[in-house]
Amino acid sequence: MKKISIVIPAYNEEGNVAMIHQKIKEVFDGLNNYDFEIIFVNDGSRDNTQQKLEELSSQYDEVKFIEFSRNFGHQPAVKAGMDNAHGNAVISMDGDLQHPPALIPEMIQKWEEGYDVVFTFRTYPKEISFFKRKTSDLFYKLLSSLSDVNLTKGGGSDFRLLDASAVEVMRNFNEDDLFLRGLTSWMGFKQTGIDFTAAERLSGKSSYNLKKMFTFAFTGITAFSVKPLYLAAYLGFLFSALSVIGYGAYVIHSFIAKTEISGWASLIMTIVFFGGLQLIILGIMGIYLGKIFKQVKDRPNYIIKNKNF
Ligand code: UDP
Ligand code: MG
Repeated sequence: MKKISIVIPAYNEEGNVAMIHQKIKEVFDGLNNYDFEIIFVNDGSRDNTQQKLEELSSQYDEVKFIEFSRNFGHQPAVKAGMDNAHGNAVISMDGDLQHPPALIPEMIQKWEEGYDVVFTFRTYPKEISFFKRKTSDLFYKLLSSLSDVNLTKGGGSDFRLLDASAVEVMRNFNEDDLFLRGLTSWMGFKQTGIDFTAAERLSGKSSYNLKKMFTFAFTGITAFSVKPLYLAAYLGFLFSALSVIGYGAYVIHSFIAKTEISGWASLIMTIVFFGGLQLIILGIMGIYLGKIFKQVKDRPNYIIKNKNF
């Protein structure tokens, strides 16, 4: 019998873990030919998630857990689950039931058809405003154009199935700034996507705030592309060219009109403008330098304190 491993990162999900296990179990009760395991990765939760997981795993053989020594983040948690999964295919999904378990049979079916990666597009429920939908689409388009991997729509979700061979490839990635959806897209293999509508969180609250989203976006861009570095160089060229032309025009004008070049305001503006530009460029270089620094230290993505398998 083929085995499917479900990997679920859980950070403060005490109110959700039992329910999600229940829902997944129901799905597999309806599928005859598959064995399954659920690997919960407790990412340093501060609530009773760990206790709930221990209770659940003592009741059900298919429930396994990995406990981190502290909070390492969503992406390292998913990676840890995949590193420790033994299924013929691994499905990663969120622990708050925003990723509907009802989609699992369809994912498995695609996998059986020969796809190594089945990713999902998150479509928005009707309640979400037009504005929010559009800005989110725009955001992913921008991200994709700045990055070397395609993140449009399909990038929007960490709900996906990977064949064991793709998981094996993932296991050997040793990069510090994990951006799994980018890595999955970059990896290749035979891929396909399916749509789903994200549900509301079952309980608890989202730990992705605006700041985390921005960090995530920057990770997405800088982990997959050196384009921003080129952008810095292009901007530098553009503005030096403009300033040469501008100053040339000034000098000619002052000869023709027989006036002195004057204007504090324009001087200050120029200084401030170029000061800003230099800071941006330094910042971009700093981000990459920081990445090199982190990677050189070669610390692990996560530390496991305890696991029950
Ligand atoms: N999560 C995690 N570590 C974190 C933050 C989140 O393991 O530091 C998990 C969380 O338990 C959930 C998933 O990542 O299963 C997605 O998080 P969340 O629901 O907060 O994000 P959103 O759905 O709002 O994007
Ligand atoms: Mg969520």
